[in-house]
Amino acid sequence: MTTKRIRQSTKQNDAVSKPKKAKKSSKQDFEVEEAIVSLLPPKLKRATKRSAVDSNKICFVGKPIPVDEAQSKWPHRYLKKDGLKNNDCIKAKYHYRKAKVDGVIYELNDNAYVQAEKGKKDSIARILELFVSDDQQQFFTAQWFYRAQDTVLQDHGRLVDKKRVFISDVKDEIPLGCILRKVDIAEVKPDVSDLSAQKKKNKNKIPSCELYFDMKYTAPYLTFSKISNEPERIESSTSTISSESGSNVVAADKSEWSLLDLYAGCGAMSTGLFFGAFKSGIKLVTRWAIDINKHACESLKLNHPQTHVRNETAENFLSLLKEWAKLCEEFVLNGSESSDSDMDDGEEANDEVVDDSSDSEVFEVEKLLQVCYGNPNKDKKKSKKDKEKASEDEKLGLYFKVQWKGYDSSYDTWEPIEGLSDCKDALRDLVTTGYKDKILPLPGQADVICGGPPCQGVSGFNRFRNKNAPLKDVKNMQLIVYMNIIEFLKPRYILMENVVDILKFVGGFLGRYALGRLVAMNYQARMGMMAAGCYGLPQFRMRVFLWGALPTEKLPAFPLPTHEVESRSAIPTGFQEITVAFATNEKCQLAEPLYLKDAIDDLPPIKNDESQDERSYGASPRSEFQKYIRLKRSEMVNYSADYENTPSGMLYDHFPLELNKDDYERVCHIPHKKGSNFRDLKGVTVKGNKVEWDPSVERQLLKSGKPLVPDYAMSFVRGTSSKPFGRLWWDEIVSTVVTRAEPHNQVLLHPEQDRVLSIRENARIQGFPDCYKLCGPTKERYTQVGNAVAVPVALALGYTLGLAILGLSDDKPLTTLPFKYPSCLAPSLDTVDDDDSS
Ligand code: SAH
Repeated sequence: MTTKRIRQSTKQNDAVSKPKKAKKSSKQDFEVEEAIVSLLPPKLKRATKRSAVDSNKICFVGKPIPVDEAQSKWPHRYLKKDGLKNNDCIKAKYHYRKAKVDGVIYELNDNAYVQAEKGKKDSIARILELFVSDDQQQFFTAQWFYRAQDTVLQDHGRLVDKKRVFISDVKDEIPLGCILRKVDIAEVKPDVSDLSAQKKKNKNKIPSCELYFDMKYTAPYLTFSKISNEPERIESSTSTISSESGSNVVAADKSEWSLLDLYAGCGAMSTGLFFGAFKSGIKLVTRWAIDINKHACESLKLNHPQTHVRNETAENFLSLLKEWAKLCEEFVLNGSESSDSDMDDGEEANDEVVDDSSDSEVFEVEKLLQVCYGNPNKDKKKSKKDKEKASEDEKLGLYFKVQWKGYDSSYDTWEPIEGLSDCKDALRDLVTTGYKDKILPLPGQADVICGGPPCQGVSGFNRFRNKNAPLKDVKNMQLIVYMNIIEFLKPRYILMENVVDILKFVGGFLGRYALGRLVAMNYQARMGMMAAGCYGLPQFRMRVFLWGALPTEKLPAFPLPTHEVESRSAIPTGFQEITVAFATNEKCQLAEPLYLKDAIDDLPPIKNDESQDERSYGASPRSEFQKYIRLKRSEMVNYSADYENTPSGMLYDHFPLELNKDDYERVCHIPHKKGSNFRDLKGVTVKGNKVEWDPSVERQLLKSGKPLVPDYAMSFVRGTSSKPFGRLWWDEIVSTVVTRAEPHNQVLLHPEQDRVLSIRENARIQGFPDCYKLCGPTKERYTQVGNAVAVPVALALGYTLGLAILGLSDDKPLTTLPFKYPSCLAPSLDTVDDDDSS
């Protein structure tokens, strides 16, 4: 077996200046390569000479720059070719400060339109050098600006202000005659004094210029970032930490950073971010989490008791946020009409409620308990008659949970706001306390938003993908909702996760849209692909991650791998550019890859029909991974009293999806050896890579009379797949933990037991610490685990986020991690945890 390091192509930098059209190979590769070619800055092709221009109209003006000065400024242009190959750039005879083209004088650092090839929009460049080459040709060095459409954003560049361009670090020598005309480009600095007014202020700042720029665009990791690397956040020194170089850096301007986890599932992503940020010295607390799935919400709440977990759709959540902001404005921020703005005195508030409604209602409102958007009663009604009332149920708007005077909580009901017009004081009471407790984030209050909006409309499994209008597909609509939430809340940082398909489908349409929205909202942004296995798991699992950071912040880097991994799904060639990996020529010390054995061989044997949810381990851990993944919550790095009542110390969720009798019988026939699957069953032979019925054997039947080898196994991927009823082996990895646990078309049988991997085994492969107990029916738990962002990946990203918050990240897109998973979960046992003294 060979293990591979995922390596970054060394050609990465070439991609900036000389992006090549990728070679066509297979059809699939082609689609992928097309996508990535489109992600890269385009080659700004130009005519080499402008035919229409009379060469007499092109000349340098004034005396050449003294040779000494020119040589010291541009030494590479003057190096002698004395046998030694220095570089192959065009050599200069003289440099000038000015040139004249078509009667217009151009000086160094002027900006100009430059002729592009026929049919292309003219390019835009800053003039960095004006020189005569060794062979008497007149050149200028162009540092290119990109229009939004020239970047990875392509058509989504339309989202960005037309006047806005991006400076690149791509430079080319261009014949002087290609200069067309001057262009006035203003450099606009992001204003940090008032974030909410940023858009307006920038607009005010670019009154007269044709174009403006406030960010640079660089190809590695498709980075849009501010030009100056200086921290611009106005910091108050509440805490300091030492940077690696030993200098004191003013750290965060607050002791706690709040995180909103959207599409939170059971909370793996925010859990990892929380751990990782903590390791950098930042307390990042998941304050709010939203998911449509109630079981996922239960799991999240169980493991994060301090989080406001909301079981609702993201679209209703956004509407609620907008309404809530208005309510806070009315009752809290604008000064309440009530003389007593502090409604701490519950009795007084309740008296007022009674007064207000006493003569008009049979039921009196005691108190408003909760708020939501959209009718929460609608899902509870199931009868036919109720279904007829569906349209009424669909009614949107604010709803409040009402506690009725004289009735206990079993009588609480959800009521629309219209019916509560007489209950202003109860409303004020709810809003005032809700505002104080931050039950919902107001714009600017969520420092970080994380989450992966589901984009099922891009999945290769989905035959009905809408290729013409990917964003009109309701299955992809959440990406728009997600970006709208960011637009409304304006967090300092965002981290989006998604499947690699968002870069493959329709030339990366959705990936480019996501980046485009961020850039249009004035965020810095950067995209990378990370394989979970590179961070210490026996699973490959490649995912796309997108960072966003307000221009007041540092843009976080991507964390480099810590472990070798056996590469499973091939990294599509075209996408290597944004794969988070060491360059092939870089030295790196990666830990040994993890295998299934390392992660799960300590777990007690269980049967197919096992249903016990909680048990003791029985045996000791056998690997480093097992030792640390078993840590109790109280033994972990960021333990606090908040977690006192969270599950700990026992083994949870270690039971499998119970297979029906027929499948169980089939599984019992699959040999306990490496590589076995349905092809090992009696009656099946293999020719080439295809299965066939063995003509010499009668079709075998199960006790129930059904066939031992089902037809669907024989026909799966036209008989070429060996996945049906596949058994994993101890020295293997899983390509991706998925949400379903049926063994019909995927390899997930335990190596030595006749069952599928248990929920806990899958959770281990995803890097969940054992104390992270899940809720809901068996299938729901598998779904939560399969949906999760692998914990060590989120943890690694949390660390680089923390560094950015602390102002410690530099301009580089990649950073090495000073720890490994899962030993980093323990405060004292990990060697590089010196600054975790808190
Ligand atoms: N990031 C999570 C996994 C999220 S999976 C983790 O690391 O654990 C995507 C989640 O989106 C699922 O839990 C699903 O229930 C939820 N979801 C799907 N559509 C939604 C919607 N419209 N609003 C809110 N949540 C939604």
